[in-house]
Amino acid sequence: MARSFKAKQSFHVPARTGKGFPVRKGDLIRITDLHGQQPVDFWAINRRDLGEYLSCEHTKPSIEKLYPGQGDSAYTTHRRPIVTVLEDRSPGQHDMQFAACDKWRYKELGVKGKHASCTDNFHAALKSLKLRLPFTPQPWNLFTNFFINPDGTFAVKAPDTKPGDSIILRADMDSYVVVSACPQDMNLTCGGNPTDIQVEIGR
Ligand SMILES: [Zn+2]
Repeated sequence: MARSFKAKQSFHVPARTGKGFPVRKGDLIRITDLHGQQPVDFWAINRRDLGEYLSCEHTKPSIEKLYPGQGDSAYTTHRRPIVTVLEDRSPGQHDMQFAACDKWRYKELGVKGKHASCTDNFHAALKSLKLRLPFTPQPWNLFTNFFINPDGTFAVKAPDTKPGDSIILRADMDSYVVVSACPQDMNLTCGGNPTDIQVEIGR
């Protein structure tokens, strides 16, 4: 059964772009993969201290898993929960191993000239909130199927998300949230075809 969710704000985020917005403690954030196989890079930053932000490196020892599942929290650099997974209506692939894609990653993959990136989307979203960070925290890669083999090697596989799959996160502190509909089209991260996502904020 889906939990009740009353949206008070909704953002359509077009393929290859990002969006930043403030949330209050207790707000619910529903992120929907509208067309399937679309990873979403997710960042959350404490509104009162930009030095405290969602950290994959700090989350993994706190939950003793490679990434949070339903009922788990993601933790900050100060080892406090910043968001908690309330409901996961997706196959549950939410990678915490990889840096955001950036212009250097696309150059490495052979792109000549400009290519949209989650890193550029993150900093543009912060700018729209009149904020600035001089670095890029590692995002939590929702709907991302980096498959880790028992021997420590991994495979970049297309996500198993279907159109309309979603996750609901609860904000555990007043935060700035940034999402990026990943523009990776050089491998199977986005199933070869970056598409739009929907973000709703509710209670
Ligand atoms: Zn990306």
